[in-house]
Amino acid sequence: MEQATALVQHGAGKFEFENFDLPVLGEGDVLVRVEANGLCASDVEAYEGLDRDWDERPRILGHEIAGTIQDMGPATVNRRGLAVGDRVCVNPFVSCGICRSCLIGDLSGCTGHVERLRYGMVPTSVSPSLWGGYSTHAFVPRNGILYKVPPEVDALDATLWQPIAGGYEWAIAQGGLRVGDRLLVLGPGQRGLGAVLAARHAGAGKIVVTGLTKDRFKLDVALRLGADAVIDVESEDFVARCMELSDGEGFDVVLDTTPHAVTPINESVAALRRGGTIMVIGVKLRTLDGFPIDQFLYKRGTLKAVPGSTDRSYRLALDLVANNPKALSELRTHVFGFDRLGTALDVLKGQVAGENAINVVVTPNFTP
Ligand SMILES: [Zn+2]
Ligand SMILES: [Zn+2]
Repeated sequence: MEQATALVQHGAGKFEFENFDLPVLGEGDVLVRVEANGLCASDVEAYEGLDRDWDERPRILGHEIAGTIQDMGPATVNRRGLAVGDRVCVNPFVSCGICRSCLIGDLSGCTGHVERLRYGMVPTSVSPSLWGGYSTHAFVPRNGILYKVPPEVDALDATLWQPIAGGYEWAIAQGGLRVGDRLLVLGPGQRGLGAVLAARHAGAGKIVVTGLTKDRFKLDVALRLGADAVIDVESEDFVARCMELSDGEGFDVVLDTTPHAVTPINESVAALRRGGTIMVIGVKLRTLDGFPIDQFLYKRGTLKAVPGSTDRSYRLALDLVANNPKALSELRTHVFGFDRLGTALDVLKGQVAGENAINVVVTPNFTP
């Protein structure tokens, strides 16, 4: 009988391949044949066992899943528009639909399940074990949300919907960027570049992206994707350049995507427009020391923290993915089989000499 093969995490940096029986599907359930996973900073933290509430029960990582529908449960009427063989992206969160968080649209805050059902975090002891993308198969229960991928988009490209959805969510839906507004993106990684694409599409007036000297190739990609200007914060005067690029007024929205750094947030207060918003989207693993709170007060600023995305942003992102094949080819730099997850993460972190990574994809295949 066909089985799933999955890379199971047993500890910080400790992984083993294991086989699992494929689940018997009930009404509304779907079995996805996984084709690709996007990687993000949270995978790095999870790999090292640093994520907030992991209790060390074995689990299958991988939460940015794209694949095709292999099987659907009987009498599945809640999946109209989807059929076996369709390519889909999987919403990382399975929500109950009836708890207070779900009722206000905060799916990631769902408290309606005994175990929090976020792909890549659910222990394999929770039936039917297949809750992660570093596996040949993933289980999607009745309440799991699937997004149909247009047939012309392949699975590797489809994983880019995640950083682009983030861009919509952080800069526009939550950051409040309006047509003509100025956006300052701190950090030129895939999330920063996803925000460039989303903000350009949404009518931003000016988009500026910052990076380090070693990020030059990513800053060049930012310019090709539609950024108006870039700032090398190591060789240029960050605040002076920001003022110059914003006609002395500052930026309406600052989106901080820099991993584990707080200095960019602190310095960006000087580049913020009066009444502007600073968006924080990533884990810092430290406290926000040195924040110029008085300057922030006089500017009447807003500091907002929003990890993750919403259904609307996911849908907008898939449209953008389908209509911008050229942009996607700029963003995806590496593909690895799941037997090389450690290498994939090192490349994503920029720790492999000679490898310039933006979007790194892991497939459930063994490297030949
Ligand atoms: Zn992610
Ligand atoms: Zn809920």
